[in-house]
Amino acid sequence: MIDNRVLIAGAGPSGLIAAAVLAEHGIPVTIIEQARDLPDDLRASTFHPPTLDMLERFGVVQAMIDQGLICPTWQFRDRHTGLIATFDLGHLKDDTAHPYRLQCEQWRLTRMLRDRLATNPDVAFLYDAKAAEVAQDANAVTLTIERPDGTREPIRGRYLVGADGASSAVRKSLGISFEGETIPEIFLTLSTPFAFHDAIGNLTNIAYISDPEEWFVLLRTASLWRVLFPTDPAETEARMMDPARIEERLQAVVPNPAGYELRHRTAYRVHERVAETYVKGRCFLAGDAAHINNPLGGMGMNGGVHDAFNLAEKLAQVWRGADASLMERYGRQRRKVALETVQATTTRNRQILNQRDPAVRRAYHDELRATAADPAKHRAFLLRSSMIQSLRDLEQVA
Ligand SMILES: Cc1cc2nc3c(=O)[nH]c(=O)nc-3n(C[C@H](O)[C@H](O)[C@H](O)COP(=O)(O)OP(=O)(O)OC[C@H]3O[C@@H](n4cnc5c(N)ncnc54)[C@H](O)[C@@H]3O)c2cc1C
Repeated sequence: MIDNRVLIAGAGPSGLIAAAVLAEHGIPVTIIEQARDLPDDLRASTFHPPTLDMLERFGVVQAMIDQGLICPTWQFRDRHTGLIATFDLGHLKDDTAHPYRLQCEQWRLTRMLRDRLATNPDVAFLYDAKAAEVAQDANAVTLTIERPDGTREPIRGRYLVGADGASSAVRKSLGISFEGETIPEIFLTLSTPFAFHDAIGNLTNIAYISDPEEWFVLLRTASLWRVLFPTDPAETEARMMDPARIEERLQAVVPNPAGYELRHRTAYRVHERVAETYVKGRCFLAGDAAHINNPLGGMGMNGGVHDAFNLAEKLAQVWRGADASLMERYGRQRRKVALETVQATTTRNRQILNQRDPAVRRAYHDELRATAADPAKHRAFLLRSSMIQSLRDLEQVA
C-alpha cells in the first residue's frame, strides 16, 4: 500500500522549509534525518533579504532578528590599502521588507522550524535514519533507510525530496551526476570574541578582504566574529589547526597583544558543482544535494531555501491534481539560478579576492568603486548579490 505522504530526506534548512510549506498545504510529510538530532555545527550564517521575506510566513523572522545581527552594509576591502567600496542595502528599501543581511546561525532557523513542525500531527520525524536507496514506479517511491545498527527498512511515499546535503545519497542512488570542480583551497573558519570592529576603522559587519597572498573574510555574528581563511590543501591538517599557526594568522590580520581567544574552528573543502537534473520521476533534489558553491557571498543556504519554497509550492499543486510536468519547471528554474547566479557570483567574488595580476586587481577594484558611487548601478548590484534579481527572473524560465 502506498503511504500517502511526501518523504523528505534531510532535516537541514532546505528539507525543513520544504516540509513546512507542504505541511501548511495540509500535505503529510515524513522527514528522514541520519543524525540523532538536528546538526548544530557552525555553518552558514547570512540570510539575504528575500529569504527573510519568504520566511515571514512562518513567523520566525522576528526571533531570528532577536538572536541575530542586522547588517545594513557590507564591504570589499584591500588587505593593505583598506576600504574599496561599501554597499548599502538601504538602496533596496522599496524592493524588500528586509533591506539588510541578517547574520544568524542556520541551526537557529532549523530548530525554530522543527519546533513549529513538531506540533503538526501530519508531520513525522525519523532520526537515526539514513536514506540509503531509492526505487520508484509510476505511483510511488520506496526509500530504503538504514539504522545505526545496520538494519534496513523500506518507507513508501508518493514523492521524495532529496535535501540530504552535498553528499546526497538520494542523488547518488538516482544516478544523477554532480558536475563541477573542487576548489584548490581548504576554507578554515575561526570564531573569536575579539572586537575587530574596534580595531579596524570603518569596518562593516561583513567584509571581504582581497589580497594576492592571503585574502580573508570577516563576518560578525551577535556574539562573535568569524574569520574565514583559504588554506593550501597541501598543508597538513595538523599544521592548519596548530594553535600557534592560527594565532600567527590572526595576529597578521590585527595585532592583539592579549592573544586571540578561539571559540570554534572548522575546516572544509569547497566544491562548485550542480546536479545534472533536479527532477527524476517522483524524486526531486533541493539545496546542497542539488548545488554546492564556495561561501563567498552567502548564497548556498539562501539558494537552498529558495529551492525549497519553489519546489514545495509546485508539489502542492501537483498533489492537488496539476500536471506533474510542473516539477520539471522547478528544475529548470532553480538549476538556472544555481548556474547563472550562484556559481557565477561566488566564482567572481573569489576571483576579486584572490586575483594576483595587479592590473586585473586594479580593474576589479575600480569597477567596485564605480558601482558603489552610482546609485542605479549600486541598486542593480545589490539586487543581484542579495538574490532578489534571480527570483524576479524566474518567471522568464518556461
Ligand atoms: C562545515 C560547513 C561549513 C559551512 N559554512 C558555510 C558558511 O560559512 N557560509 C555559507 O554560506 N555556507 C556554508 N556552508 C554551506 C551551508 O551550510 C549549506 O549550503 C546549507 O546547509 C544547505 O542546506 P541544506 O538543507 O541543503 O543541506 P544541509 O544543511 O547539509 O542539510 C542536510 C541534512 O541531511 C542530513 N543527511 C545527510 N545525508 C543524509 C542521508 N543519507 N539520509 C538522511 N539524512 C541525511 C544531514 O545530517 C543534514 O541534517 C557550510 C557547509 C559545511 C558543511
